[in-house]
Amino acid sequence: MTNKKKLVAGNWKMNGNVAANDALVRALVAGMKDAKCQVALCVPAPYLAQVQMLRHGSPLELGAQDVSKHEQGAYTGEHSAAMLKEFGVRYAIVGHSERRQYHGEGDQLVADKAKAALAHGITPIVCVGETLEEREAGRTEEVVKRQLAAVIHTNGHCISEIVVAYEPVWAIGTGRTATPEQAQQVHAVLRAQLHAATEHPDRVLILYGGSMNAANAASLLAQPDIDGGLIGGASLKAPDFLQIIAAAG
Ligand code: PGA
Repeated sequence: MTNKKKLVAGNWKMNGNVAANDALVRALVAGMKDAKCQVALCVPAPYLAQVQMLRHGSPLELGAQDVSKHEQGAYTGEHSAAMLKEFGVRYAIVGHSERRQYHGEGDQLVADKAKAALAHGITPIVCVGETLEEREAGRTEEVVKRQLAAVIHTNGHCISEIVVAYEPVWAIGTGRTATPEQAQQVHAVLRAQLHAATEHPDRVLILYGGSMNAANAASLLAQPDIDGGLIGGASLKAPDFLQIIAAAG
């Protein structure tokens, strides 16, 4: 668990433009030369080609923010895993709480998207997390286990190939981070669930996401079951993101 390379993944969400992306990615490529962890950027689909070109020759990996469960056909607005693969995409976020909330994505759809990604050699970053209401009702464990169970059930032995991101919904974009202890507690629950599901549970990276920033990254990443971060707001500023990358080293 502890000797794995951590993964720091930026989730740009629906932010960026050609000029800003250019400046940000160039600054990251230049600034992460000594990075000891893995680093990825999950960018809006229209910018995949741009970022693929900008990261050329650097260890920076490319990620998408969603993937269709379908292979191809009449699915307006969606992009398939095969399409992402053509642009050098290594990761695809699935089941982000913003997609669960605003697009009605349920556990089974998220599991099917993870399967479609895996079928094309793309690592799904499967997001799980409870709302504030669910936490206050003492349902955190039940909710995250239910969300991960669907992915385990649908993906069988491939489950050791996924990345999990624990993102408490109440911490996303709010500036209210889970404490390292709160996060570790849930990560341990998820780790135990993976232990029961695969012979290689230690291969699975479990990231924390939700207002992770330059100031709190080190204490979160020091927890035994926190293998990296999924970073929203702080991934849009090169100095902040580089500090998180350094903290993961
Ligand atoms: P945040 O977003 O870091 O801005 O809270 C994290 C995420 O939603 O992945």
